[in-house]
Amino acid sequence: MTINVAIDGPSGAGKSTIARAVAKQLGYVYVDTGALYRTVGWAAISRGLAADDEAAVSALLPAIQVDLTYKNGEQVVLLDGQDVSREIRLPESSMAASAVSALPPVRAFLLDTQRSLAAKHNVLMDGRDIGTVVLPNAQVKIFLTASPEIRARRRYDELVAKGVECDYETVLAELKQRDYNDSHRPIAPLKPAPDSHMLDTSDMTLQEAIDAVCRLVSRAVD
Ligand code: C5P
Repeated sequence: MTINVAIDGPSGAGKSTIARAVAKQLGYVYVDTGALYRTVGWAAISRGLAADDEAAVSALLPAIQVDLTYKNGEQVVLLDGQDVSREIRLPESSMAASAVSALPPVRAFLLDTQRSLAAKHNVLMDGRDIGTVVLPNAQVKIFLTASPEIRARRRYDELVAKGVECDYETVLAELKQRDYNDSHRPIAPLKPAPDSHMLDTSDMTLQEAIDAVCRLVSRAVD
């Protein structure tokens, strides 16, 4: 049996940085499920579709192929065989991801990809509904959070480091909008699974958060 660790929480809580580091330390595969929704969002807007147009996005799904691969230990998402790692990090892809992720056909489309990875490998999978919907039997469930201002600052710094032009106030406003969308949608809303460990990283350094997650995983699987 594989070991599955589910890490959920709002954007900018540090999920991907922390999960990536913990996966490396424990020798697990890191799966960033947000990248899958971003890829579908990007596929929609780059074809001129409105990301919240359920009929148009549903019609697009059978025509696209979304795959996860690993290059030098890093996850790479492929859209129809093309590496779209850069495009999916654009702010417009974030908003498009949030919109398409509220559409039931999109969630169903990506479910198999996520579950089959978890069946084959020991994974640390991060997202919004991993502990509640995708991997309800995960041995460890963690809900990571931090204040909106701290999360927006982290996201802003990340974008700036990547050379993406943006301003902090816009990043904060978009993050709050996405939090609202993610936690109020009727399907797979962002919420902690009843059996998840709550971890607020607002006052933690990155290393403290990594250590805390490692401890929770080690304690559960030893
Ligand atoms: O984690 P990230 O910010 O990359 O996710 C982008 C968007 O994808 C989120 O705002 C959320 O709406 C959606 N998402 C989701 N379920 C997941 C992962 C991401 O709905 N498991």
